[in-house]
Parts: sequence; C-alpha cells; structure tokens
Amino acid sequence: MGYIGSHTAVLLVQAGHQVHIYDNLCNSNASTLERIQRITSRDIGFTEGDVRNTEKLADVLRNEKIDAVIHLAGLKAVGESSQKPIEYYANNVQGSISLIQAMQSAGLSTLVFSSSATVYGDPVYLPYDEDHPTKPTNPYGRNKLQVEEMLRDLSVSDQAWRIACLRYFNPVGAHESGLIGEDPNGIPNNLMPVIGQVVSGKLAALNIFGDDYDTPDGTGKRDYIHVMDLAEGHLAALTWLEANPGCHIFNLGSGDSFSVLDLLRHFEEASGQSIPYQAVGRRPGDLPEYYAKADKAAKLLGWKTKQSLSDICESAWLWIKHSQNN
Ligand code: UDP
Repeated sequence: MGYIGSHTAVLLVQAGHQVHIYDNLCNSNASTLERIQRITSRDIGFTEGDVRNTEKLADVLRNEKIDAVIHLAGLKAVGESSQKPIEYYANNVQGSISLIQAMQSAGLSTLVFSSSATVYGDPVYLPYDEDHPTKPTNPYGRNKLQVEEMLRDLSVSDQAWRIACLRYFNPVGAHESGLIGEDPNGIPNNLMPVIGQVVSGKLAALNIFGDDYDTPDGTGKRDYIHVMDLAEGHLAALTWLEANPGCHIFNLGSGDSFSVLDLLRHFEEASGQSIPYQAVGRRPGDLPEYYAKADKAAKLLGWKTKQSLSDICESAWLWIKHSQNN
C-alpha cells in the first residue's frame, strides 16, 4: 500500500478487478487502505504480512483465490541501499524468491514486477531502450536487475509463467482526489516530496543538486511520469500477459525529460506558491540526464503517458494541500 501500489489498486478496482493488498507497512500507512476504499467505494481485502513470510503469503494467495500478482514490495531509497545493502538484498531479492515460492505453492504463474530504470546505469546512449546494457551503480539497482534475471530464468525453466518487468522512470504526482499520494517516512530524498516539504514550510528551501551539468539550464533532467499513468501501465501489462507467456521487459516513461528548474517552475505555477531554492553541489551518483524510449510499451501494450508536467504538479499540489489539512 505504498505510493505506487495504492494508485494501482485504485485503478484496478475501478477497472473491475478484485484486489487484495499484502503489505508489512514498513514504509506505508494503514490509513491508506481506508482512503483507497473511499475513492473506490469498495471494500478492499488487506493482510499485514512480510513478503518473506512464504507460508503466510501462500495462504493468502490460496484463500483469496488470487490469479495474478503485482509485486511492489521493495525498499527503494537508492542512497540508503548503499548504507544498508543486506537489508536491501534481504527485502528485495530474498523477498522476491519468497514470493515466487509462495506463488508456486499456490499454483500461480502471472506476475507483474516493479523494476526500475536504475538497472541501466550510466547511459551508453539515450534514450534508454530495453536493449540498452544494464550496469546498475548501486545495491538498489542491482537488486532490481537480479530479480529480473531470476524471473527470466524461471520463465525459461517453466513455460507456464507470464511475467512483465516494468522499468519505471521517475514516478511523481498523485491521485486526482488528493486523498492518496507520495508520503515517504522520514526525510525525503526524491525531488517532488522535497518540494512538497518546502511548500508546506517543513524545509526552508530546495537544495538543487548541481546547476553545472551539461544541460540547457545546468540542472539534472529526468523522465517524470504521472503515477496514474504508471498505474495504467500495470493494468495494460496484466491484460497483455493473458495472451503472452514468457518474461517481458517494458520501459514505462514518457520519452521526454525535464530539468529540476522545469519541475520547480511548473509546480510554482500549479500552486501559486514561490519555492525558494539554492544550488548546492552535485549529489554523488547522479546522472546529468536520462529518459525512456517507451515505444515497446506503446506498440505491444497500447500504453503511453497521457498526463503533462502541469497535470503532475497540479495533482501533487492537491495532495500536499490535502495532507496539510488532515
Ligand atoms: N534533486 C535535487 N534536489 C533534491 C532532490 C533531487 O536537485 O532535493 C534532483 C536530482 O539531482 C535529480 C532530480 O532532482 O536531478 C531527480 O531526483 P530524484 O531523487 O527525484 O530521482 P532520481 O535521482 O532517482 O532520478
């Protein structure tokens, strides 16, 4: 029931699926369940449990008569993954093995896996397509790649498996209701939640990590994708897998890139607030620019992003305002 899972659950329910959420709440809040129910006007099943508890997970898969799994149970802070690598390998790699074993025990073989553009590492060329070499530069990215490789091996060994690995670019924005959005525990690392803390007065200013990159305004450029577009990508993958066994990789991005200052200006416009900022040194490990070639998802899944950077900022602002009042 984290950021991406909550938005995906809303979309799946609205598309007529029955959803059961399994989460250990280590980086999410039980109140999100109630909010998902408010948005969808439906009861949603929920089990509190760790992805590494294989037996409990298998019981849920069987008892709830689940027929497909969307696996989003990963730790995702890149910096933290270098400080606590074993925690990351245990949760992200061991957790995925446990999930596969639970699925095997319950007789399931359809899986959508939340992967990341981090698997590519330093760009050899841009935009990244799915055939770009993979050389992740941090434990988090290596976790994602190892799970992808494991899933590919699994699909070769047993042709019943239908797996989609979705390589996300930079998910941002919130549901249009303003009821759910990104709400990281502790100090945020990612740009949008940091901007959120600046506009709500929790932080004095945005630190821009580097204004001397070889980009038009000197700040880093990323492929920002609205979280509801991302949710649609999961639904499209799930539907496509019904007719397509095997293990398949898809980039989910917009195919465009925007700088930190672009995002800041769009957010100022959407919110009517001015956002104080200062340029500080580059963040170690950051790339000047990257973005997706998302043609494969367009061609095979019939999916592409619909929402603009303004839509993204308007929805994020709505969520921030809503969280301030609740
Ligand atoms: N960024 C920044 N200040 C922050 C957080 C991020 O200037 O407080 C920049 C970062 O250097 C990068 C962009 O915003 O150019 C997106 O960073 P984020 O951490 O959101 O995503 P990622 O680095 O994983 O692409």
